[in-house]
Amino acid sequence: MIIVLEPKTEENEIKKIKERVENMGCEVHEVKGKYYHIFGIIGDTSNIDPKSFEANRHVQKIMHVQEPYKKANRLFKPEDSVISVDNRTIGGDKFTIIAGPCSVEDEDQIVNIAKEIKEGGATFLRGGAFKPRTSPYSFQGLKQEGLELLKIAREKTGLPIVTELMSPHLIEKFVEDVDVIQIGARNMQNFDLLKEVGKTDKPILLKRGMSATIEELLMAAEYVMSEGNEKVILCERGIRTFEKYTRNTLDLSAIPAIKKLSHLPVIVDPSHAAGLWWMVEPLSKAAMAVGADGLIIEVHNDPKNAKCDGQQSITPERFKSLANTLKEMSKLINKEM
Ligand code: PEP
Ligand code: MN
Repeated sequence: MIIVLEPKTEENEIKKIKERVENMGCEVHEVKGKYYHIFGIIGDTSNIDPKSFEANRHVQKIMHVQEPYKKANRLFKPEDSVISVDNRTIGGDKFTIIAGPCSVEDEDQIVNIAKEIKEGGATFLRGGAFKPRTSPYSFQGLKQEGLELLKIAREKTGLPIVTELMSPHLIEKFVEDVDVIQIGARNMQNFDLLKEVGKTDKPILLKRGMSATIEELLMAAEYVMSEGNEKVILCERGIRTFEKYTRNTLDLSAIPAIKKLSHLPVIVDPSHAAGLWWMVEPLSKAAMAVGADGLIIEVHNDPKNAKCDGQQSITPERFKSLANTLKEMSKLINKEM
């Protein structure tokens, strides 16, 4: 349920309404914009009689929220959420590019790629240290050492780092070392993990599960937000369909749908969506055209010999040329790169 207050309602009146709702056992999520003041009500609203609130002259209207996600719902917050990371922002008028290898392999590799993508216009460095692999015999990532190498790359380039957390037991280390915590597709519904990252104040990059609906993705975001962490960035990374030509099917329609349903920023991962390096460029342009807030792209200096996902990684040269094209395109849609 949402209570829309009349603009310019005095503080003491606002407080009274808030207390009344809280006394009914519900939580009030207050959002104030330039032209609106909203109370998003979370909890069992069944004993709240809308009429009794509508009678209050400071209440403009009462709305029912049909969707199961509340804090992630655009009705709760009409304006786009802008997530701050260091001195940067994601969402709103910005178009953000996160780039880097699938996994961190050694110091030279990660530092050199970081320098190259920075030159191209990426503002965040990605790189897996703990890798979720289908086979237990595949490279599992450099783990702690990978985190240390990411920190070196950050120190040398100033790029904040984005890396995947797979298990709650490493959360403290990640909070200390990492700028954006990635929750991978395979863990999108790992509810314990979602709740734990929800207790931190780190920005969370939440990837859509490979067979998750848009609503399930938004419910996963709600898990994080319900614990207090509202810094969630959603990521469309392709879903499983009957099509086998590509690794997954990029669901471009999810972007406008999510932007309509939620205020959270949404970025696109064309690399895992297609699984083919030569599709990264057209899909990146498509993502920008449908209103994505950014991209996360796999870039490798030597894709043929990459330890993971070489077939979908683009070279730094191609990355720079793609970033230039995107910069030109961003002018048309009033996004800042
Ligand atoms: C990744 O970003 O390297 C990754 C494993 O992605 P996803 O969880 O989308 O498969
Ligand atoms: Mn990968």
